[in-house]
Amino acid sequence: MIQKTDKSKKQNILIVIFTIIYVIISVATAFIAKNGSSVITIGNNYMQLYSINGVLSALHFFICICLVSIDYKKGRLVSTVLIVASIFSAIMEMVRSHALNSLPGVINMTVSLISIYLLCDQLESREKSIVTDYLTNLNNRHGLVLALNKKIAKKDVFYVMYLDFENFKLVNDSLGHRCGDFVLKTISERIQNAVGSKGILGRIGGDEFIFILSDKYDPLETANDILTAINEKIEIPTGDKIVDFYISAFIGISKFPDDAGDPDSLIKYADIAMYHSAKNKQQRINFFDNQMEKELHRQVELERIIKESLANNSFYLVYQPQYILDGKKLRGFESLIRLKTDAGEFISPGEFIPVAERSDLILDIDDYVIRRALREFKEPLERSNRSFIVSVNISAKNITFPGFAERLKTMLEEADFPSECFEIEITEYCLAASVEVTIDNIQKLRDMGVHVALDDFGTGYTSLSYLAKLPINLLKIDKSLVDNIGTDEKSREFANAVISMGHLMNCEVISEGVENETQLDILREQSCDFIQGYVWSRPLDYKNAVELCCGEKHDF
Ligand code: C2E
Ligand code: CA
Ligand code: CA
Repeated sequence: MIQKTDKSKKQNILIVIFTIIYVIISVATAFIAKNGSSVITIGNNYMQLYSINGVLSALHFFICICLVSIDYKKGRLVSTVLIVASIFSAIMEMVRSHALNSLPGVINMTVSLISIYLLCDQLESREKSIVTDYLTNLNNRHGLVLALNKKIAKKDVFYVMYLDFENFKLVNDSLGHRCGDFVLKTISERIQNAVGSKGILGRIGGDEFIFILSDKYDPLETANDILTAINEKIEIPTGDKIVDFYISAFIGISKFPDDAGDPDSLIKYADIAMYHSAKNKQQRINFFDNQMEKELHRQVELERIIKESLANNSFYLVYQPQYILDGKKLRGFESLIRLKTDAGEFISPGEFIPVAERSDLILDIDDYVIRRALREFKEPLERSNRSFIVSVNISAKNITFPGFAERLKTMLEEADFPSECFEIEITEYCLAASVEVTIDNIQKLRDMGVHVALDDFGTGYTSLSYLAKLPINLLKIDKSLVDNIGTDEKSREFANAVISMGHLMNCEVISEGVENETQLDILREQSCDFIQGYVWSRPLDYKNAVELCCGEKHDF
């Protein structure tokens, strides 16, 4: 239940007091009128200067205005009743005392009319403020919903566009909220100029805008016009200097009545379409389709499954052997997470890891994998007559978090696991979030003896100068690069260059996803250090992995 705030209690008390005052005033007015004292005389002229009725009625209109100002909802209701009552009483008074023929009557009526006018004006501006965004003067969410409802009732065909900005947060974070407000106002003016009178524009929060476009216009062309208008340079005054700023947007579009029949769903579907644009990045404008909604439902379902599986311990690990290419000796294992739900459904990490990465669930998953791999290999590592490496995948969220190295150190100590037998695999996406923290974490881990591998190498776009700064010791060539080396000369040369570059960076190099002997031969020729792939072994369950590393199954 929502608790009543102190403020709203005070307002209620004020309304009651005002209403009591009004009742007293009304009774007094009636009493004075009945006793014929509505006209007062001044001096000997018996001049009808002021009517107490007029003053009192002005007072109660004033009270009505106060009521509306203080509490819109209750004030509006109470004052509407009061207005009706007073108009009625004014008419009665007019009939009774021939008000229009006498000065006090005219004053009385004028005061009443001015008060009614003021009250209506007040009501109107309150009404407007409820549907207007204070910053941009555009419609706010409430105003947009009202406009959508009107169009839906008229059965107009229209589009709803949801706009979100890519790097708006940057302005707020780096230049402060005043500059953020300036950018929002500038953007809203530019969009308004670009769309003219094609529809209704509004802001529904932060940097999220909605545009309702009539189907007389082409939605794609209009969306492109909006993007062009937004992309132009914004000059932000920051006090002492002007900062040039560029901003870009993503737009999602839904259509009435094809996609949905109510404002909330239309906005939600446009938002889903916008989210797809933001996720894929290549396409800035997206139309909603049902597939998108299915994906969203699946995402919500997966989040629930991940949470349940963490609580019920339904995750487990498999271990894919990594081999020294020269002589097929075991180097170690990559730990790969698996999920079998209570309903018996296997869900691939390729599906649930990206979902977990979008929420903080990935942090729990990483913790789970680290602890379980350490626990499972502590004893085999002691039993085996050779050392080997246990590797785990770590999300960008973790490695870019200050204190991760210390947390991992504690976990290694608690498990009593030798750090030189442990490896983490990271991807270059961690560089996008924070270079300094990432390098700091990696350096600390390297100092502890932990191996750090750069996974999926050859798929990203990070500049080499950045990569060279990472104190890693293993480069992992992505499967997509390895796939074609047997059949395509260019891929072969590229793989060769990557291996040489890895060695130049003082790293060892492992190729993943090696599936056949031809690939093995080429990689051997190119002096690749290690390989991992179906050609020598698929991921193994725990029992088979232990048999392998303890020499009960293979020799190495
Ligand atoms: P990844 O880290 O690049 O893992 C390699 C993937 O390639 C694994 O798929 C592995 O089973 C598969 N693979 C290995 N050799 C071959 C081969 O010769 N042929 C083919 N076709 N595939 C091969 P998996 O286990 O489905 O994992 C997919 C992705 O999910 C991983 O890609 C990784 O990004 C993520 N992932 C898996 N386990 C974990 C984990 O424990 N933690 C985190 N954060 N991510 C994980
Ligand atoms: Ca990996
Ligand atoms: Ca990989």
